[in-house]
Amino acid sequence: MSLEADCIFCKIIGGSIPCHRIFEDDQVMAFLDVGPLARGHTLVIPKIHAVTLETLPPEYAAACLRIVPAVAHAVMTEVGDEAAGWNLLQNNGPVAGQAVGHVHFHIIPRKPNDGLGFRWLPGKLDQEEAQVLAENIKSWL
Ligand code: AMP
Repeated sequence: MSLEADCIFCKIIGGSIPCHRIFEDDQVMAFLDVGPLARGHTLVIPKIHAVTLETLPPEYAAACLRIVPAVAHAVMTEVGDEAAGWNLLQNNGPVAGQAVGHVHFHIIPRKPNDGLGFRWLPGKLDQEEAQVLAENIKSWL
């Protein structure tokens, strides 16, 4: 397990910064977000330092996503009276809203008219461009 001295989530993993822990095993931790968007807002993080998801070793990515359903189920059982659904949010890079440079998955309970909003501004996929784009992306896998 490799951690970074100046990373706030690595410090939580190491125990030098406290958190309200919900789950922990040798690869993953889940704890309450200190600035919750909703009651029960929980973070799931890998116990290894990686800034963005595409740089996270796959076994840690798998470990995070393996535990997300159970943690979300527990959160929603607790706050289900007030929340009717939840978002799984994972930001990569400042332009995408990432403030903490250690991979994390947000579990955010949602209720009608909670004011959080969600902007989804769909474009239209150009079929010709899509063919080239898909082939190009495939070649990078
Ligand atoms: P993001 O914008 O996706 O990087 O989200 C970072 C999240 O980490 C925010 O929701 C913060 O409230 C949360 N956060 C930052 N520091 C702590 C901390 N010490 N304990 C719990 N959550 C934290």
